Amino acid sequence: MRYTDIAIIGGGLSGSIAAAMLGRAGISTVLIDPHESYPPDFRVEKLSGHVQVERFLKTGIAESVLRRATFAGENWIARFGRLLDKAPSRQFNILYDSLVNAVRDEIPATVERICAKALAVETSPERQKITLSNDETISARLVVLANGLNVGLRHQLGIAREVVSACHSISIGFDVVPAGRNSFDFPALTYFSERPSDCIPYITLFPIGTRMRANLFVYRGFDDPWLRQLRRAPAETLDAALPRLKRITGAFDIPGELKVRPVDLYVNDPRGQPGIVLVGDAFSTSCPVAGTGCDKVFTDVERLCNVYIPHWLSSDGMNAAKIAGFYADPVKQACDAWSAAKAFDFRSVSTATSPYWTAQRWARFIAWSAQGLLRPLGGAFDLEPNVLGHSSSSSSSSSRSSSSSSSPSLSSSA
Ligand SMILES: Cc1cc2nc3c(=O)[nH]c(=O)nc-3n(C[C@H](O)[C@H](O)[C@H](O)COP(=O)(O)OP(=O)(O)OC[C@H]3O[C@@H](n4cnc5c(N)ncnc54)[C@H](O)[C@@H]3O)c2cc1C
Repeated sequence: MRYTDIAIIGGGLSGSIAAAMLGRAGISTVLIDPHESYPPDFRVEKLSGHVQVERFLKTGIAESVLRRATFAGENWIARFGRLLDKAPSRQFNILYDSLVNAVRDEIPATVERICAKALAVETSPERQKITLSNDETISARLVVLANGLNVGLRHQLGIAREVVSACHSISIGFDVVPAGRNSFDFPALTYFSERPSDCIPYITLFPIGTRMRANLFVYRGFDDPWLRQLRRAPAETLDAALPRLKRITGAFDIPGELKVRPVDLYVNDPRGQPGIVLVGDAFSTSCPVAGTGCDKVFTDVERLCNVYIPHWLSSDGMNAAKIAGFYADPVKQACDAWSAAKAFDFRSVSTATSPYWTAQRWARFIAWSAQGLLRPLGGAFDLEPNVLGHSSSSSSSSSRSSSSSSSPSLSSSA
């Protein structure tokens, strides 16, 4: 039996950040994950907006991780085939496995990493016992459950799961290449849907290294024939859905495989459980359209590792009342509520046809257009960060940084 203060189950984004933070704080920690190196996986591919980046910076490990990303300092906003704005942006584009592996590189050697799967967890108000797939057993004062979408352990522990919205949205990731020329004109682009009946909130195109990635989001059932058609003939199906997109992008091909991921919105209720705390997707999921999943990950882990774990370890025991303080944290609760509301607002503003949501759609279009018109005059106003999705700009007063570079300034004034 190995003994530790903290055992983290899951070395994805949440678990790896937690391991890096706790290791740096000198807290005895073990990280358990079946993969030595995080494998390719379609998840977040872009950290963007002032708020999200600031949340990451609060964990203390963001700087060196973000330096591995491709930076886009300008994002074009378009709809109806019209370029509305060339907005300053703070986008850090990076594939998920590269992101997690960069975070893992920040974990100090003092954190023991075990390449295995946690098969069972027994909790109590004193010590927790974890049985691993390599026949080892770990005894910890606290288990941080950061095992993402994997429901097995939560089920075993009797943690109730509420599905808030099944197949709330579907994310589709693929590469695009310009046809008949070497490069695209835009540094990064967000193109909003043309009609509510398209069931497409937007498509976003952004560079990662020498590749141009596309993330397309749709509100459809997973068995919708449109998705089969998209897989069969991606360029043609996309063109039919967003016929004026090419006025902005120019002609392009879709050379490789499409990754299609449906997302259920759910929230777990771990209250009453001693000895274990849930973070990131293990606690609740978010809608990729709203782009808030990483805000939740960064907030959960930052509050847990900077505030709660040091406090909990300073007294005996690990009862449920102690742990309840984390779930009641006002910063965490505000972030979770904002993320959940944004998931539904985005769907309504993209697909609802009621007078209210039609007016909201036009208000956004007019706001982007006005901002685009005022920007060259130096009078652009701030659209509330994160209200308008991934493309939220950092600040209208921020100087326009190079459209795409690998060595951005990470300070908040960038
Ligand atoms: C398609 C898609 C697009 C997205 N786009 C965005 C976006 O644009 N912006 C944004 O902010 N968010 C986005 N998100 C959300 C974001 O990617 C997630 O919120 C985030 O990756 C969650 O990280 P995590 O560490 O909680 O889970 P994961 O990264 O899933 O980590 C879970 C880890 O647990 C390990 N594990 C599982 N079971 C066990 C076990 N029994 N024992 C040991 N280890 C185990 C796994 O191997 C894995 O390493 C997107 C999500 C998806 C699916």
